[in-house]
Formats: sequence, structure tokens, C-alpha cells
Amino acid sequence: DPAILWFRQDLRLGDNPVLAVAAERPVLPVFVFEDGPRAPGGAARWWLHHSLAALAGALAERGAPLVILRGDAREIIPRLAAEIGATEVHAGRQTEPLARSRDAATHAALEATGRRLVLHRNALLHEPHRVRTGEGRPYGVYTPFSRAVFALLEGLPPPLPAPGRLRPAAGAPSGLPLDGLGLLPAPPVPDWAAEFREHWTPGESGAHARLAAFLEHGLDRYAARRNMPGVAWGTSGLSPHLHLGEISPRQVWHAAREKGGAGLETFLKELLWREFSHHLLWHRPEMVDTPLRPEFAAFPWREDAALLRAWQRGRTGYPIVDAGMRELWRTGWMHNRVRMIAASFLVKHLLQPWQAGEAWFWDTLVDADLANNCASWQWVAGCGADAAPYFRIFNPVLQGEKFDPEGAYVRRWCPELARLPDRFIHRPHEAPEAVLREAGIVIGRDWPAPLVDLAEGRARALAAFAAIKGGE
Ligand code: FAD
Repeated sequence: DPAILWFRQDLRLGDNPVLAVAAERPVLPVFVFEDGPRAPGGAARWWLHHSLAALAGALAERGAPLVILRGDAREIIPRLAAEIGATEVHAGRQTEPLARSRDAATHAALEATGRRLVLHRNALLHEPHRVRTGEGRPYGVYTPFSRAVFALLEGLPPPLPAPGRLRPAAGAPSGLPLDGLGLLPAPPVPDWAAEFREHWTPGESGAHARLAAFLEHGLDRYAARRNMPGVAWGTSGLSPHLHLGEISPRQVWHAAREKGGAGLETFLKELLWREFSHHLLWHRPEMVDTPLRPEFAAFPWREDAALLRAWQRGRTGYPIVDAGMRELWRTGWMHNRVRMIAASFLVKHLLQPWQAGEAWFWDTLVDADLANNCASWQWVAGCGADAAPYFRIFNPVLQGEKFDPEGAYVRRWCPELARLPDRFIHRPHEAPEAVLREAGIVIGRDWPAPLVDLAEGRARALAAFAAIKGGE
């Protein structure tokens, strides 16, 4: 009897154990788009559209076209299995809480008719439910977690090859045309994704091309340059590909180790941050909206729509923050160092709740990933499992001067500052009149005055933190 291949966050053919069953049986590849809470945000939908197009093309070439459906998978999948007489549905294991409950419900519905949902590990290097501390508990701290997983990965088997021809199941429904999902911005909405195409090639071959380019141009100098947002290939840019599983972490891990070199260790450790976020989400599903440190529930945020909006638009008056927010809007991605600075500025200097920043990132990042986004926001806000101490507050001017010393990054995304000398590129509000005039800038007209004074913002943030620490 045939099997259903249910694609979710594993939109690839290479190194995908879900496809192993295709060696023995006819298959029906399916993707079900489910709208609702925590459905992909705008930028991620753009990516998903193109990624599905690539997957559909690859599957059609192998003789088993992808069937695209929309609705509640808990009903659609069991119905489809009954229709084509499939006894097994194969899929990749996900860590998101809603996906897990959906899978449990789908499995139960399948079981009621003698069928089953078989989940494979194809998104992570470790199994969150298997990796435990010496005391048998889940990990809550990155360093011991990474040590444990590193040791485990010594014997990591090589990636699986992509299958050859597939035998299509008989009686497959036709499904929706991809455009029917409405994932792309369409009039009257302006095409905010126009620039995305210049930066990204969604899909499995785009992912492998990016990996190859990074191994050639970036890996060697990764340790030295991964914090510099203004350089080319400082980091891999693989995050959106990894998020949708267009490439597996095992393929990345093996390829990087094969290439080797100076940056290798640091790069592998970053891949393990992704594992760690998913480990946390698996064991602490409440982390998507609730601070992992309970005292933060009483944090005195000062919700302010105008401040939030200025941050979203890249109009805070601090160049490294604003450059990052504009890079995000225009490309759907932001450099990790700048994500940390921009997020810290929002939650500390502006005292806006981390959930508001998380929501904006969710909607605007092409790599928006529930585990990575929530874990990172909680980490920056100081309320995460393994968080930086709250009192360590990034100064956006000093951070900018340290990691973008000549202002290459700021000049690219904030061209109105391009003519400022290096000395003032991260502090235009402190530049003397004559320097501003020379650069053609009037503060308040061409460039926003700072939303908040850094020393005042810092003192206010520390006072807010003292209030929850003291249990007031
Ligand atoms: P590289 O430096 O090339 O790293 C390789 C891979 O390792 C990445 O693709 C990613 O999968 C993983 N990785 C690297 N750093 C981290 C990290 N700190 N945490 C988890 N995984 C990591 N990453 C997302 O994938 N999705 C998100 O929604 C997301 N939101 C974030 C929000 C904030 C506030 C912060 C500070 C970080 C967030 N990150 C998120 C983590 C990190 O910024 C990105 O993974 C990274 O910038 C992706 O760029 P890259 O692929 O070039 O990374």
C-alpha cells in the first residue's frame, strides 16, 4: 500500500529520512498550509511560496507531484490516507508546541482506523526528548548542553542521498495551485518583498549554493568576522534555509567539518545554539510568550505604540539600530550582532516588552523560527533560561563603533548618513554643527534626534530591574 509523505519544515529531498519509505512503496507527497496562531508571518510566507515551488518542481521531476492543500491537517491527513488506502504517513518531527499537539491529534485520528503517523528526526542533530543531563533532566544552560551534544555527534552518520525516481500513489487528489495559497503580497498591498529576490534563492539548490559559497568565502575567517555586519560572508545566511529544512543541519555539519579550518569550531557551536533553542522549546513550550524566569512576569514595561513604531521603522536616532531595522525590512534578515543590539535597545532603553519585538521579528524575518526567535528574545531581555544578566546593557553607540568601525554597514542601510566621517557615524547627534553641515544633515529633518538619552535609558532600565528583583 502507498504511504503519504507529509512535508512541513523539511522541504528537501536530500538527507531526508522521511523519503526512505519511497524505496519500498508508492508515495503521495503532501503539503498542508494551516493558517491561524503562529502561522508564518509575512516575510516567511514569501519564502515558503518559493520554497514550495522549488520542492514541487523537484518532486514532479521524480514522478510524484506535490499535492498542496489548505486547512486543518488533523482532518485532511487522515481523510487523505483513507482515500488512497495509505496505512502510514511519514513526516519530520517538529518542536513547536502547536505542531506537536496537531501531530498527536493526527496520529490519534489515524490510529482509530488502523493507520499511523511515523515521525523522523530530520530537523535537528539531537533528539530533544533523549538528550538529558546526568540527573536525567533537560538542559537549561547552553555550555553543558553543547558539550553533551558535541560528544554525541562524534559518530554522526553521513547524510542520506536524495532518492531517484519515485512511484506515485494512485488516486491522488489534484490539490490547489501554489498561487491559491495567497502567500505573496498582492495588490492592494504594496510589494514589500521586491528586494528579497536580490538577496535570496529559496529552495534546496539555493541552500546548497549558499553553503558552498560560505564554505569557500566565510568559514575560515568566521571566528574573526562573524560579529562584523558590514563584511561580505561574515556569516552564512543559512538561517531561512535551515528553518524550512531546505538543507539539513547534518548536511551543514558534515560539509563544514570536511572543509575544516580556523572558523570551524565557532561555526559548529553556532549550529548548536539552534539545537539548544529547540531543546528549550521542546521542554518549555510556554517560552513562546511567557518569561522563563517567573519574576519577569511583573516587569514594569512601559508600553508605548509610538516608541515601538519608531523602532520598527528604523527611526530611533541610533545608527546601528536603525540600519539593522532597515536591513530587516528590506531583506527579511538582520545580522545576529545587530539583532542583539536592536533587541536590547527595545527592551532596555525603550522598556518595551520583548513580546512586541518578537512579534515584529516574527512578521518580518524570512528566517522567523519559533524556537530561535523566542529563545533569543528572552535571552536578550534577561528572562531566558541561560540569559545574559539583565544589568549588562548594550550601548548601541559603542557596539556600533566596535563592530562596524568604519560604518560600512550603517552607510549601506542609512545612506543619509553616508557623508559623515567615521568618528561620528555612530553618534550623529554628537557631531558639531560644522560637521553636520558638511555632511548635509540637519538633525530632526534628515536624521531623527535620539529617542532616548542612553544614560537615562540605562538608569531607567536598571531601576525597573531592581523593582522586580526586590519583589516590589
Ligand atoms: P551563522 O552565523 O552563519 O550561523 C549558522 C546557523 O546557526 C544559523 O543559520 C542558525 O541556524 C544557527 N544560529 C546561529 N546563531 C544562532 C543563535 N544565536 N541562536 C540560534 N541559532 C543560531 N535565528 C533564526 O533562525 N530565527 C529567528 O527567528 C531568530 N530570531 C532572533 C532574534 C533575536 C533577538 C536574536 C538576537 C537572534 C535571533 N536569531 C534567530 C538567531 C541568529 O541571529 C540567527 O540565527 C542568525 O543571525 C542567522 O544568520 P546566519 O545564518 O548567517 O548565521
